[in-house]
Amino acid sequence: MNKRKCDVCYKHNAKVKDYRFVESCGLQGKVLSCKWCFNLNDVAVYQIVNKGLNPKEFYNKNKEVIK
Ligand SMILES: [Zn+2]
Repeated sequence: MNKRKCDVCYKHNAKVKDYRFVESCGLQGKVLSCKWCFNLNDVAVYQIVNKGLNPKEFYNKNKEVIK
């Protein structure tokens, strides 16, 4: 009940308030995000929402800076 899932991936517990405007995903403003989604760009967020990807996968694939 007091554990809210991330609005983007629905996989991890929401930790941070974020602002996303990704119309194709239905994200238009304030979202509660996990620490993984929070650091990702809009393109990655789009893929997570539409393909059900785990945001951690983006970190494994791209160990460099994600911006
Ligand atoms: Zn997330």
